[in-house]
Amino acid sequence: MAQLLELIAKTNQKAAQILQEFTEFQIQSWPLAAANFKSLEKVEEKSFQFENFQIKVQFNPERLLSTASKTDQKSIAARQCFLCNENRPYEQDAIDFGDQFLILVNPFPIFKTHFTVTSNTHVDQRFLPGAKALLELAEALEGFTVFYNGPECGASAPDHLHFQAGESSFMPITEEFQRMKLNSGRPLFSGENTQVWAFDNYLRKMISVVTISMFEALEVIGVYYRHFQAMQPEKVEPMMNVLCSWTDGIWTIHLFPRKAHRPTQFFAEGAEQILISPGSVDFGGVFITPRREDFDKMTKEDITDILSQVSVNQDMFADLTEKMKADLKNI
Ligand SMILES: [Zn+2]
Repeated sequence: MAQLLELIAKTNQKAAQILQEFTEFQIQSWPLAAANFKSLEKVEEKSFQFENFQIKVQFNPERLLSTASKTDQKSIAARQCFLCNENRPYEQDAIDFGDQFLILVNPFPIFKTHFTVTSNTHVDQRFLPGAKALLELAEALEGFTVFYNGPECGASAPDHLHFQAGESSFMPITEEFQRMKLNSGRPLFSGENTQVWAFDNYLRKMISVVTISMFEALEVIGVYYRHFQAMQPEKVEPMMNVLCSWTDGIWTIHLFPRKAHRPTQFFAEGAEQILISPGSVDFGGVFITPRREDFDKMTKEDITDILSQVSVNQDMFADLTEKMKADLKNI
């Protein structure tokens, strides 16, 4: 199998071009991917404007399996892991990324170019052991946002380490981050290579790291993880989603600390139910609704309520960010 970085060096093409061709190849050779990328052309979207930012809602019926997936230990133990190499569809090809990861076309796309990046081995979905790979992937995939869904935060395979990637321009956060930073970013750290901000009023809680240094990025992530872990000691890892991109030598990393896997609306019955299971894409500003009725009835108030239920509350966020601020002085 071809290595992404070798393909870039050999063909003198950008990653985006190589991955676009890879997607087209899979659409030609894999009927499931062909059908679902075709359906994506017809998905409906609407958007809600908030102060300084927007949230889009996408009606995408092909995502039902993922949204409604059972990720409890018993269900996971009873199924074959769909990310393990021996269980993947034979039509699904791969591009290697280093020794540990494979880039695969996601056959249930949200983005026009949507990839799942899986570990070669069946190891649990955990952020800290994968953090360096996340930064390396983002650097290799300029133009894409690489994201991580925690085992209780939207990952449909909590037992198999993986990321996803899609074109950055799709998520509103990409365009609105500069503006948000100026208007409502609370600075936690500012050094020669690295800046860190907290966002209290973005409907969801967010900590953003902008850096030219991979070493310092990992230091900040380490500080965040240690303090947050102490606040959720009962969890296999603190609950989170992460978005990471790289442009012109600069990494932008958004960390979303969470307190709930799914909102009450997910479990409600009848007219009260909204089938939504927020993950990184939702936190990036695109709510994915696989059912028409949920797409039609979703209001601004629902969005505000859902994000407040699944994000950590203000007290915990203030505590976490103050602790980070004190420690970041020493990086
Ligand atoms: Zn597996």
